[in-house]
Order: sequence, then C-alpha cells, then structure tokens
Amino acid sequence: MTFLIMTKQKKSSVLLIYTGGTIGMMQDVISGELRPFDFKSLTKQIPELNKFDIELSSIAFKKPIDSSNMHPKVWIDLANIIKNNYKKYDGFVILHGSDTMSFTASALSFMLENLNKPVILTGSQLPIGIIRTDGKENLITAIEIAGTLEKGKPAVNEVCIYFEYKLYRGNRTFKYNSSHFDAFKSPNYPALAEAGVEIKYNKAAVLKPTSKTLKIHTSLDNDIAVLKLFPGISKKITSAIINSSGIKAIILETFGAGNATTEPWFINELKKAINKGIIILNITQCLEGIVIQGKYETSSQLKKLGVISGADMTFESAVTKLMFLLGQNISTKEISKLLPKDLRGELTS
Ligand code: ASP
Repeated sequence: MTFLIMTKQKKSSVLLIYTGGTIGMMQDVISGELRPFDFKSLTKQIPELNKFDIELSSIAFKKPIDSSNMHPKVWIDLANIIKNNYKKYDGFVILHGSDTMSFTASALSFMLENLNKPVILTGSQLPIGIIRTDGKENLITAIEIAGTLEKGKPAVNEVCIYFEYKLYRGNRTFKYNSSHFDAFKSPNYPALAEAGVEIKYNKAAVLKPTSKTLKIHTSLDNDIAVLKLFPGISKKITSAIINSSGIKAIILETFGAGNATTEPWFINELKKAINKGIIILNITQCLEGIVIQGKYETSSQLKKLGVISGADMTFESAVTKLMFLLGQNISTKEISKLLPKDLRGELTS
C-alpha cells in the first residue's frame, strides 16, 4: 500500500482509500478493455483536490481491483484500515467499482459498529481520464461531505454511497443501472443529502451519533445460498440448493410481499431445512416495498414454518447481514432474533 500525504493546516482531514473500479481505469490500447491503473495517475488527473480546506491522505491497494472481484477478505482489510486510522481522520472516502459497491457498503455498515464518522463509497461510470467522466464530481463531493464538520461534529456518521449528486445510506442501495451516471437507487429510504449549488442534508434521515466507541467485526461466514423463485421452479433444483452441503442460511427471493408457491413438496423442503437448523430469510424480488408474511395465503405457510421476514432489506444487505451474524459465534435462535431487527438502519422495523 502507498501513502501520499499532502500537508498544510486544514479544517478537517479525510483518508481516501483506493480499491479500484472504473474511476481509476484506463483503456488498453490494443484490446480496448478497461483495466485498473496506478492511483498516483488518478490524483494527477484531479488537481482540484489540492484546493480543498481538507487535509487529504490516501492509501491505495497495491493491486486495484474491478469490484466484481470483491471478496469478504477485502471488506476485512477495509474495516481494519478504518479502525487503524479512525482517530486520525474526520472521515473516510473509499473509491470502489460500482458493480458491487452496495455489497461493500452494506458489509461495512455491519462490520463497523458504533461508527461516529462518515465512510463514503464512491466511484464512477466513466474513467477519470475521460473528458465526460462522472468521477470528478463524485470524488470531489464525496470528499467534501466526508470532511464536513458542523460544530466540530461530522455531518453524517454512517456508511454511505455518494453517486450523481445524491448521498445514500449504503445498506439501503443497489446498483440499478449499468449505463446511466445515476447508477444507484435507495427505494425504501430517502437520500441523506443532495448536492446542488449547496449540499443539503436530510437531518431527519441521518443516523443519530453515538457516544459508544467503535467496535469492528471481522469474522464473516459466507455459507449462504440464494434460492430465487420463479413460476415452474423444479423440485429437483430446489432440493439440490436446499440440501447443498455446509449451508447455514438461505435467502429465499420471493414474489411481491414475500409470497411463494404453496405446493406441498416446496413447503416440505423448507420444513426439512428449518428442522436441520438452516435459517431461511424471506426477501422480495420487488425492488421497492416490504415483505409481510401472512398478508396473503401464499406467505402464511412460510411464517408458520419459521421463515424469517427480511422486511424491506435489499438483497445486498440480506447477504452481508447474514455473513456478519453467522460470523458472530451465536446460536441460530439468536441469529433468527437479530435478522428482522434494525441493526444499522438497514430495514424498517
Ligand atoms: N466493473 C467496474 C467495477 O465495479 C464498474 C465500475 O467501476 O463502475 O469495478
């Protein structure tokens, strides 16, 4: 990892962590493929960074990655970087590919308990070297938000995504567009801030600060499977997924308000899994709205079996919350109690 430090007495301080993604990619002259490049070239592209009244330091991954190669091991590295630098900086900006940015933001929200400073992920749809890049605005405003202090206190104290003029709670987002600059949505929770001529914060939506000290969780368990329902899903395939060896939890991607087929073989497979101690979490395939088990006959049986409602959690939050809770060395009963609870503002309880 490289450290670049720009000195001068400034109002606040921000640590920029560069993991990779399109923002720092270059086009290969021969193949035309986009590949990550050295971070030093990135800072050269944005001389405006030196004009901030914010002391900016940076850490770059030795091997920047396309975020499709993101892995829980990298989340642990990121959590440790934040922990080790927590006292030195007022805020953190993570430059990250947009493809899995919502997963990383969600994971970090669970891993960083009692966070009292901003951790803002951003990136871009076009590399920084391209004239029409969206990367410059995203990066500059993300740094400004991360370095904003109001009466000595950070304006936001949670893990966020800043993209295309909007600041979102990270664990409420998903990437919904691969070609527009406006790549993220947070349908079940309002934006925390909007950047126009001024940056306007939605104070009522931001998590309340805490007086507790930061606690980081670096044990994650990925023994999770996903079963996405569709009309006509076969017993053979469903059973193969549910009975895969080593599975501890299944995310059941259901229809509408959390509904599923009532065919006896399906209910029976779920019952067997629950009896074996496998946790089943009900997440809707709808991008907006909430799971209400028992609203329709087609979800009442799930409730009776002990399937857990994921309420309005995103798929990204569901995956990372399960990894976090399974890594806690607590009982299945305890995990089942915590899953439907609001731990980091990830669901409406
Ligand atoms: N494939 C890239 C990544 O996620 C896309 C991006 O940066 O937007 O790393």
